[in-house]
Formats: sequence, structure tokens, C-alpha cells
Amino acid sequence: MRNYEDTYRHKGLRKKLMDILRDKGITDGNVLAAMNNIPRHFFLDSAFDEIAYEDRAFPISEGQTISQPYTVAYQTQLLQVKPFDKILEIGTGSIYQATVLVEMGAKVFTIERQKVLFEKTRNYIFKAKYPNLKFFFGDGYEGLPTYAPFDKVIITAAAPFVPPKLIEQLKAGGKMVIPVDEGEHQRMLRLTKNADGSVTEEAFQHFSFVPMLKGRRG
Ligand code: SAH
Repeated sequence: MRNYEDTYRHKGLRKKLMDILRDKGITDGNVLAAMNNIPRHFFLDSAFDEIAYEDRAFPISEGQTISQPYTVAYQTQLLQVKPFDKILEIGTGSIYQATVLVEMGAKVFTIERQKVLFEKTRNYIFKAKYPNLKFFFGDGYEGLPTYAPFDKVIITAAAPFVPPKLIEQLKAGGKMVIPVDEGEHQRMLRLTKNADGSVTEEAFQHFSFVPMLKGRRG
């Protein structure tokens, strides 16, 4: 069950959440504005109606999670999203992260490997509002060669390594934000593809994601 009503109380809670994100170091005003515009409780069961605005990850289904708002803000900020950027997302999950990207004016192609989660995208509440968000059922390790190259790639599951095909599908000058396994946690990396095809790596703080798994399921 979902509650698709966005009350003043929800809006107030959301504003407070943006203050928390700012206090934690999120500085990109476009990221905060987009997240302030999106009712996160629309992406969760109505049982999570108010705690949707706590800075926490929550279970969705199929053993998956909606990322913590701080994590969404952090990855989005690192991605340096610009209007009309063509972005590939690996791990659709609840569609919340993809919605933040499309709200910022990007064209978003998102892949989910679990059939049950992919099928839920048919009931996406903002289908009419965001025609620039496209859903795909597939294995993120393969990317989307038909739609490549992309300006940006964002991986929202813990990758054991940087998938080479996703680097291939990045434009020269393009950027990838990816949490890569380092034991129990993942280190957030931002990779920039140079004109000669080489890759420059920047390393950021640690996070904890569900694993990026091989192949499709269902
Ligand atoms: N971006 C999501 C986060 C979901 S958690 C959100 O905003 O809610 C990570 C998701 O990645 C899960 O739904 C999981 O099924 C999916 N996933 C894991 N490995 C994958 C792969 N190889 N290809 C595509 N999706 C994958």
C-alpha cells in the first residue's frame, strides 16, 4: 500500500531532512532542491509514511533497499548532474534515485536485474511527469550498448570491481560514480574518462550497499 498524498506535514519533514543533509556536508543546491521536491514516502510502503524522512535506508522488497537519503545526495552531488545529461543508472530499486536525477533535468536510463522490481516500474507514479526516465530489465554489468555513450554512469549497488563495459559506454569527459567493495564496506569512487580512453580515479568515503549481482533474476 502506498500513500500518494503529500501533506504539509510531509513537506515540513522533507525540509528538515534537507537541513540534516546540509549539516552532513551536502552543498549542491540543485541536489537539495530536487530532493526537497520529491516525496520520498511515495517510494515506500505506507507503513513508512513518516519515517521516510529520517536519514535511513529502508527495505523495499526482494531483499533490496531504498538507499539512505544522505547516500543518494552524496552520489548525486559527485555525479555533477547537468540538465540534458544522458545518465545510465545501475540498480533501479525503488526508483527514488532515478527520480532525483530526472528531476534535475537529466535523461535517465535505469536498469534493474530483478523482474519483480522491474515490473513495479509499470506503476511508477510519475510516469507522465518524467517521460525522460526509461526503465530496462537486464544485467547492469552489460550496461545498455544500444543507448551508449552516456555522459554519466551511477551504480547504486556494491560493485566487486569496475565493470569494463560500463567504462566503454562512457563518453570522453564522462563521469562514473561507483561504490567498490573493500571488505565489509565500499569505497565511493568517481572515475573520469579522458579523451585518450584512460581513466582518472578519485576516492571518497565508505558506504554500505546491497551487492551488485551478475545476471538477471526472474
Ligand atoms: N537506486 C535504488 C537503490 C536500490 S538497491 C533506489 O533508489 O532505491 C540496489 C538495486 O540494484 C537492487 O534493486 C538490486 O536488485 C539492483 N541490482 C543489483 N545488481 C544489479 C545488476 N547487476 N544489474 C542491475 N541491477 C542490479
